[in-house]
Amino acid sequence: MTGKHVILCCNHFRQEVESLKISEEYPHVQVMFFPARCGQPPLAWEELRDSMLGSMEYDYIDVLGGSYCLAGVDTYAEILKPFHIHGMRQCFHIFANPDMVGHYAEKGLYTVTPGWLSHWRQFINLWGFDRATAQQYFSESSTGILLIDTGADKDAYRNLQEFSDFIGLPNETVPVGLGFLHLFVTNVILQRQIEANNKNHISIDEKQKILSHYAMALDLLRTLTNVQIESDVIHQITEIFSMLFAPKTVSFNPCESGDSSTENYTIRLDKGFILPISSSGTLLGMLEIDGLEFPEYLEYYLSLASGMVDICGMAIINARHYQEIKDMAYTDGLTKIANRRTFDTHIEIEWKRMTREQKKLSLIMCDVDYFKRYNDTYGHLAGDECLREVAKVLASNCKRPGDIVARYGGEEFVILLSDTEADMAFLLAERIRQSIEKLCIPHAASMVKPYVTLSMGVACCVPTNSLSAQNLMTCADTALYESKSTGRNRTMVKTFNGEGIS
Ligand code: GH3
Ligand code: MG
Ligand code: MG
Repeated sequence: MTGKHVILCCNHFRQEVESLKISEEYPHVQVMFFPARCGQPPLAWEELRDSMLGSMEYDYIDVLGGSYCLAGVDTYAEILKPFHIHGMRQCFHIFANPDMVGHYAEKGLYTVTPGWLSHWRQFINLWGFDRATAQQYFSESSTGILLIDTGADKDAYRNLQEFSDFIGLPNETVPVGLGFLHLFVTNVILQRQIEANNKNHISIDEKQKILSHYAMALDLLRTLTNVQIESDVIHQITEIFSMLFAPKTVSFNPCESGDSSTENYTIRLDKGFILPISSSGTLLGMLEIDGLEFPEYLEYYLSLASGMVDICGMAIINARHYQEIKDMAYTDGLTKIANRRTFDTHIEIEWKRMTREQKKLSLIMCDVDYFKRYNDTYGHLAGDECLREVAKVLASNCKRPGDIVARYGGEEFVILLSDTEADMAFLLAERIRQSIEKLCIPHAASMVKPYVTLSMGVACCVPTNSLSAQNLMTCADTALYESKSTGRNRTMVKTFNGEGIS
């Protein structure tokens, strides 16, 4: 009744498509493969026909591959009615949302799939490149290589590394799993089922409903991969499942990283289910869907949801990566407080704000005393740990919104205090200096005390348009220099106006 259905895929999708085990889910569907060509040259009709020869009789054929490779066979598709070509502008659009892949391509990354990578040497030869010409070609056209990792080929990373070494460009990986592909293929199959049912004058209400469900899921998931904040991604995931299944509750319970107490399998409830969401083998959380309005469809909902969780996991990981990259740009890697770049932006903003409001702006500059000797005595790693301790004390003393603590460089830190008088800044600087003293971090080589100490320089002014933030920095530096030259482990204050420092 359904009709025999052949899905003919590019051989480069073989590992992924075979892992979906389509014929177990849809016994009337047979999956076959045509030779992967990557457009060199496009496939001939005879080749496509030969890849199916002797296989079986069929009622429908769907061909999945790159549009460039399939350009020559399109005309035949017109003639042979049950034949439908799904040509993708880029092959990897079968594995991941085109918008997401486009985002990486904009960064100049040359995108590859595990299938292509497994034959990269063959393509380099086919293109007539040797190592030198390949390096030249890729370095002129790309900034790096991006692997769209479906997880289906265990050799993909090794191949990526070899290829990347060969052409001399760095590489990145986006784990996409098989969720997107699963939805894509299922959509193709259901489309054909509707056609078959139509032919046999069977009511198609049910199938139509299922198909539109899948189409809707695919559409909703596409938007997910572009969301950049993890909490927004999770919110959107719960919205998508609410929309699709109309349950009473949808909740996502995140797992702590390395949390092994949670079982990583699907749990069926009376009127719902709990699904693990993971990415690259790491469990991210459990999605609980309960109180389904139509529990009789539970198995169907579960199969649809199972096809979606890979993309959900990928979207969460994507958002995390985005956050990490952002954090790296704004915070200091060692101490995790703001870095100089963030501080430079912040001081300009506060300078303008205090100019408008005509309020005092104070700056504290801190420098660890005899820190070079500390490193020489205890080693660089202990030095790093000491800087982390100092940063912790600074951060815990500056909790007022709008204040900022930053690592200015090496063993120097800065604290910017808006709407703060010089005497208040002095008190804070002293409190910090004394807190560090009280920690008694041993420093045998210091010429001040046998433990780590700080010298502080405080500057304060009312910002005006004729002065600049740089004047405030210079003033704090002068104060710090005075602390250093008069014995260290102390705080000096300087204020200034248009007429000079005092
Ligand atoms: P002074 O009391 O005059 O400030 O002397 P000092 O030794 O603290 O100042 P100097 O500028 O001569 O040396 C600063 C040292 O800080 C030298 C450098 O090795 C060390 N340093 C800078 N950045 C780091 C870092 O990230 N980790 C470690 N462990 N040491 C660092
Ligand atoms: Mg210094
Ligand atoms: Mg120092």
